[in-house]
Amino acid sequence: MSAPASSRYDAIVLGAGAAGLFCAGRMGQAGQRVVVLDHAAKPAEKVRISGGGRCNFTNLETAANRFISQNPHFAKSALARYTPWDFMDLMAKHGLTWHEKTLGQLFCDQKSGAIIQLLLDELAAGQGDLRLGTGITAVRHADGLFTVETSSGVFTAPKLVVATGGLSIPKMGATGLAYDIARQFGHAIVPTRAALVPFVFTGADHEDFASISGVACDVRAVAGGAAFEEAMLFTHRGLSGPAILQVSSYWQPGEAVQLTLLPARDIAGQLKEAKRERPMQTLATALESLLVKRLAELVLRRQGLNPAARLADLSHATLDDLAGALTNWQVHPAGTEGYRTAEVTAGGVDTDGLSSRTLESRNVPGLHFIGECVDVTGWLGGYNFQWAWASGAAAAE
Ligand SMILES: Cc1cc2nc3c(=O)[nH]c(=O)nc-3n(C[C@H](O)[C@H](O)[C@H](O)COP(=O)(O)OP(=O)(O)OC[C@H]3O[C@@H](n4cnc5c(N)ncnc54)[C@H](O)[C@@H]3O)c2cc1C
Repeated sequence: MSAPASSRYDAIVLGAGAAGLFCAGRMGQAGQRVVVLDHAAKPAEKVRISGGGRCNFTNLETAANRFISQNPHFAKSALARYTPWDFMDLMAKHGLTWHEKTLGQLFCDQKSGAIIQLLLDELAAGQGDLRLGTGITAVRHADGLFTVETSSGVFTAPKLVVATGGLSIPKMGATGLAYDIARQFGHAIVPTRAALVPFVFTGADHEDFASISGVACDVRAVAGGAAFEEAMLFTHRGLSGPAILQVSSYWQPGEAVQLTLLPARDIAGQLKEAKRERPMQTLATALESLLVKRLAELVLRRQGLNPAARLADLSHATLDDLAGALTNWQVHPAGTEGYRTAEVTAGGVDTDGLSSRTLESRNVPGLHFIGECVDVTGWLGGYNFQWAWASGAAAAE
């Protein structure tokens, strides 16, 4: 069999995810001949499953302090030049509408597939080529040209944009290709870790949390110097829910996570008031007015308190201890669910080696890294897609 002919482009984009498709569309519409290569059978599968099928495509609170990176300033330039409002304008141009849920999170009113169609339509408007089911076997660079060898032939271009994402959800085709290419061209990698990911527990904690799987509660969760007030969910394996996913991105193995249940309530004050006004009430009934029954029962069992005890028979010190157990609950995760379920990968291509303006390699002109593979990791709530759009726009310039 003869070797496939080399296809020459102005730019090759590796990865047909949010960042890659968006960047390719913009380059194409700026007059460049672009091809997007991806080993998956379908484009942008993570967009499809995002936001419970409605894609939380951006966040109105977007600012560099909503991102984790060794260089907290790196994302500023790209985020300032392509904002949530720019993406909303693009949505409107495609007839798509959206709504704000909470905390500035914008969700598409249509199914997330509509955003994939937007990305594909933008790519088509720039006459970009999309090659799915294309395995990448080698990337070389010589004489100012990148050569990408693939299962569907050889592609060359003076510009290569790497947008193959992170390691999260290997079942969906996530690979470390971006990190391999970065290393090949002399870039450092900030150690990667699963982020926006549930915690798992062992022993008694595991059994206790599993016993109330499905129960949710408002908490303030603190780890790694970061604090988030949102809902927490008990699961069969441990803890999840927005507050936990957020704090997981900052958590280091071995570290405790501090939980304050019902952070907006004065629990000790309410228990003492109940004792004053309803002394014959049982402890269980008093606590169930604050927490769902199954969680209240678990808390009393863990504290060794008799749920049938009358409030009148309990000292203020006992009520203070109980409130303290709820407001300063230290849990020790055995680990996280890992890349299997993590929404993102923290760490990645070290930003020291990249231009913050164009995401171009400082080592190799024409080489760019965008999206999740870069050491810029957003909080939960649409920030990671905003980074995909903004870094894609910056690299397309
Ligand atoms: C369940 C879930 C829900 C999420 N919800 C949201 C949300 O609502 N809002 C939000 O902001 N973020 C959300 N995220 C995070 C968001 O999906 C990612 O941050 C974003 O998709 C990253 O975009 P990307 O283009 O950099 O990478 P990806 O979207 O991961 O795209 C990478 C592409 O590269 C391809 N690829 C990988 N390796 C290779 C290889 N070796 N050869 C060829 N191709 C390859 C993949 O097939 C893929 O198409 C969610 C993530 C998950 C897992």
